[in-house]
Amino acid sequence: MKVFLNPGHAPNGNPDPGACGNGLRESDIAAQVGHLVEGYLIAAGLEVMTLQSDSLSEITDTANDWGADVFVSIHCNSAASEFARGVETFSFPGSVGGRDIAGCIQRQIVGAFAEIDPDFPDRGLKEANFYVVRNTDMPACLVELAFISNEEDAALLKFQVDDYARAIARGVTDYEQAIS
Ligand SMILES: [Zn+2]
Repeated sequence: MKVFLNPGHAPNGNPDPGACGNGLRESDIAAQVGHLVEGYLIAAGLEVMTLQSDSLSEITDTANDWGADVFVSIHCNSAASEFARGVETFSFPGSVGGRDIAGCIQRQIVGAFAEIDPDFPDRGLKEANFYVVRNTDMPACLVELAFISNEEDAALLKFQVDDYARAIARGVTDYEQAIS
């Protein structure tokens, strides 16, 4: 299975670091998690391509041209309220495959973090018309790992990078088993 990983926003935060808060930049966290996920998936025998780019069309064109079987975009959430917390995963409205991969990843993150932080909310699966899930030809999802704008969530993003990566990788391998 060919897995396309897209850490959100621009490499090294230039020109777009994404959301910033509590001393963290979304582009950096997404890149760290994506790099680790790539390693775990390659170790599991999957083909992986990772691209972080400020150009959304470059991302979806590359995934489509490569013939990816599944697409995962990695982001951090942000809200005006400093109290908003939790993980949520998006897919394109009506996409059955998108909802499947979103569900596999959401389940693994929720399961892993239930032990790390029992107060970490499961915000569930959502649908959204985001560019990268709309313009990819394969099942696609976008995971919002946690809120960079919340102090407790930011601590998870800073210190539990490897737990996020393992959970996403397990979600992808769960998906592979489900479709094979
Ligand atoms: Zn983002």
